[in-house]
Amino acid sequence: MEKILCGVDLGGTKLSVGLVYPDGTILDKIIVYDHVGKNEEAIVNYITQLVRQVISANKIQESDLEGIGIGFPGHVRYRDGYTITTSNLKGFKNFPLRDSISKTFSIPVRLDNDANAQAFCEFKFGAGRGYDDLIFLTISSGIGAGIVLNRKIYRGMTGTAGEFGHTIVDPHSDFICTCGNRGCLMGIACGLTLPERFRKKMEEGVKTTLQLPENFDFSKVDGKLIKQGLDLNDPVSKAIVEDCADHTGIGIYNIFQVFNPPIIILGGGLMNLGDLYFSRIKSKFYELARDMIFDPIAIVRSEAEADAGLIGAAALLLE
Ligand SMILES: [Zn+2]
Repeated sequence: MEKILCGVDLGGTKLSVGLVYPDGTILDKIIVYDHVGKNEEAIVNYITQLVRQVISANKIQESDLEGIGIGFPGHVRYRDGYTITTSNLKGFKNFPLRDSISKTFSIPVRLDNDANAQAFCEFKFGAGRGYDDLIFLTISSGIGAGIVLNRKIYRGMTGTAGEFGHTIVDPHSDFICTCGNRGCLMGIACGLTLPERFRKKMEEGVKTTLQLPENFDFSKVDGKLIKQGLDLNDPVSKAIVEDCADHTGIGIYNIFQVFNPPIIILGGGLMNLGDLYFSRIKSKFYELARDMIFDPIAIVRSEAEADAGLIGAAALLLE
């Protein structure tokens, strides 16, 4: 019997633990939300318990598993399996997460950044199948990315390669990134910027056609509301989406010039903004790349579904 992969997607709101066949289909999974607020040790114990639970529920043994792959929402030092920082969970500063999990199991444990895991998921099972190299960008509340070169994840010296979210696309921007720098791609174009963008547009006197309650709390503006605005042809929502898309197009153009990849895959919640957003990103890219494209490049949507984080974490065992 081919061995089964165990994936752990440790997120800032959701923790998924699942068994995945080597073809990327899920055999079973457990999803919990009550890990948030727990400390590192409690989370390690929780993950260990959930892995054992999903194994026994499916009447298999630990030895039937190829190993355990963990996706972490922050910086990871891949070579020693330490988490470095995260803004999505409490703690985890220089924490030996990989070895804390592996000490209670006798199978291999791999730990990587969640965007790297998702990039590898696209490479194995998604839009990147058949390519040797790809760049994956996930645009949601933040912007993360993963680089696959020569069929392997490229991690750099520490393990933090591919932080395209912190490349600077406008040093004169009004937007300050979570890292403290002005004009990072993430600081300008991720979901977290939407509330401030909306408030600014309103202050500039642009009228929204969205029906908002009186004393509307602008911190509630998210991708869903902006999508509703687009569907209503709301000038505020449209202007925001166009500006986010233009900067993302600049970001992708920079990635293209650095890597000359055959494919760039875009995923994450903001892709639900739809065709106006996606086609504007592409048109900005082609406007900048002009006659510097010598072979066709594919810029496509992610094919992975809601479980990409889980399947990607499991897929780390196939690298
Ligand atoms: Zn930044």
